[in-house]
Amino acid sequence: MISVSNIEKRFGSLDVLKSINADFETGRSYALMGPNGSGKTTLIKSILGMVVPDSGKIEVDGESIKGQWTYREKIGYMPQIGRYPDNMTIGQLFEMIKDLRSNANTVDEELIEGFGLDKMMNKRMHTLSGGTRQKVSAALAFLFDPKVFILDEPTAGLDPLAVEVIKEKILKQMGPDKTFIITSHILSDLDDLSSHALYLDNGSLIYNDSIALLKEETGEVRLGKAIATIMKRKQKSVTA
Ligand code: ADP
Ligand code: MG
Repeated sequence: MISVSNIEKRFGSLDVLKSINADFETGRSYALMGPNGSGKTTLIKSILGMVVPDSGKIEVDGESIKGQWTYREKIGYMPQIGRYPDNMTIGQLFEMIKDLRSNANTVDEELIEGFGLDKMMNKRMHTLSGGTRQKVSAALAFLFDPKVFILDEPTAGLDPLAVEVIKEKILKQMGPDKTFIITSHILSDLDDLSSHALYLDNGSLIYNDSIALLKEETGEVRLGKAIATIMKRKQKSVTA
C-alpha cells in the first residue's frame, strides 16, 4: 500500500502538485491520467524519491519514505524517458542491471522475448529508436517481478503490436499482491488495464475513485467520455 498525504511541489513559481491525497492499495491497478504538464510524472517521481516534495508525507507499506531507499527494490519503474549509457549494448545493460540486483529471487525475461529484444542484444543504446528504448525500459521494469509497478506513459511511442504485448503482460502480472500505477495522457489507453482512475488537472486531483463508479455516475461507457463529463461539471460549478 502506498499512501500520499498532502503532497505539495513547486518548481520556482510553478505550483506543480497542489495538496495531493491518494492511496494506492495492494491488489489494485490505478490509471493516473491528465493532460501533458498536469503533474503525473512529478507525482510518480515523488513516490520514487526522485523528486522531494516541499511538504506532505508519502508512506510505502506504512513507513515514511523520507531518507529511505531500500523500499525501491519493491518497485519496477518504467520512466517516461529512459536514459542509458550510450555505448552500452542492450545485452550489457541487462547484464549490468542483473548484477546490481543479484539478490533478486526471480528474473522475468518474458518481455525481452515478447518485444524481440533478444535478437537485438548487440545493438548499442545510442543507435536505438525511441520505441525500442521504450521496450528496453518496459522489459527492465518487469525484470525482477516486483510487487509494485509504476509505469509512466508505457504505451507512448510504441507501435500497436508492442502496445498489445505490454498490455497483455500487465494483465498477466496483476494479482492480489501487486499494485499498478500507470500514467497516460491518452484516456482511452488505460480503459481495460485499471480498476481505479485518478485524474490530475493542473496539479490538482479532480477525480480519484473506481472506474466502474465513474462510468455509472456519468452514464458513459468509455473512460474518456466519463472524464470529460466530470470536467464539464467542474467547470460549470466554478463559473456558476
Ligand atoms: P506530466 O507528467 O503530467 O506531463 P510533469 O509532472 O512532467 O507533468 O510536469 C508538470 C509541470 O512541472 C510542467 O509544467 C513541467 O514543465 C514542470 N516541471 C517538471 N519537472 C520540472 C523541473 N525539474 N523543473 C522545473 N519544472 C518542472
Ligand atoms: Mg509525464
